[in-house]
Amino acid sequence: MGFPKNRMRRLRSSDSMRRLVRRTSLRVDDFVYPLFVREGMGVKEPIKSMTDCFHFSVDTIAEEARDIASLGIPAVLLFGLPGKKDAVGSEAWAEDGVVQRAIKEIKAATPELLVITDICLCEYTDHGHCGVIEACPERSRGNGGIDNDASCELLARVALSHAQAGADVVAPSDMMDGRIKYIRETLEENSFENVAILSYSAKYASAFYGPFRDAAESAPAFGDRKTYQMDPACSNQAMAEIALDIEEGADIVMIKPALAYLDIIYRAGQRFDCPIAAYNVSGEYMMLNSAAEAGLLDKESAMMEMLTAIKRAGADIIITYFAKEAAKQIR
Ligand SMILES: [Zn+2]
Repeated sequence: MGFPKNRMRRLRSSDSMRRLVRRTSLRVDDFVYPLFVREGMGVKEPIKSMTDCFHFSVDTIAEEARDIASLGIPAVLLFGLPGKKDAVGSEAWAEDGVVQRAIKEIKAATPELLVITDICLCEYTDHGHCGVIEACPERSRGNGGIDNDASCELLARVALSHAQAGADVVAPSDMMDGRIKYIRETLEENSFENVAILSYSAKYASAFYGPFRDAAESAPAFGDRKTYQMDPACSNQAMAEIALDIEEGADIVMIKPALAYLDIIYRAGQRFDCPIAAYNVSGEYMMLNSAAEAGLLDKESAMMEMLTAIKRAGADIIITYFAKEAAKQIR
């Protein structure tokens, strides 16, 4: 049967009809809002590279958390900018570190808001890499100068300190091999078996992180991250990364970035039964904002289309700087 009995336009004939037949609808429940916390008092500073995003200090973050929770957004993803950096990123697991204090503030102000914490070393190391520098020169050739296993041990320490401070979910973003296993074992050994792990499983070495590196002050001082983050041309490798992370104890897996990797999100959603998260990264956010600021795009409709596409591809959870704006539109 074809035309004229079949007319596809019948199902697009009115707004009610379109609403009735659509399969994908964005919900506020889908969103996670990223937050940046830094040292200082009374800080709410605009981040230059990212429209409408701010650096907060520990004492101002509770108010922001209340605002986010009042919109119905279920979770935040917390990034820290420490007061001092060193070669191993020791501020990352300091008991009185900026993230550890912020977790307590947020949980006290809004206990229902899930606190997910980014687990990485790049904001905390003076060289800006996500792991520690290889001490042995012979080995450094094969690993881009970053020691995998030594980094995993430190990342597990960071995750434990966030769990001790009250984080609901820890989210390792470093892309070292085996870090989920290290973190899961460390959490188990310390009776934090109910802390979930959201793994940045398929994190690509992407140019779309540009604005974030400014926001997190985490650009690497030498080399690049291509020996640990994934090559953008790989697809099967993402499936292997995700399978390994699930086996090692990840509860939720993530694909990052989202927009240029919708095929990876789709494949992961078809293949794996655990929740799939996608990170709508700073470059995607700023491409749209910049185009809108230049009068080239309608921001609201482009934003909703972009987020809907990420969900339609198979993401259950969308981490996005648009979360607050989109939540206001959906309500
Ligand atoms: Zn990192």
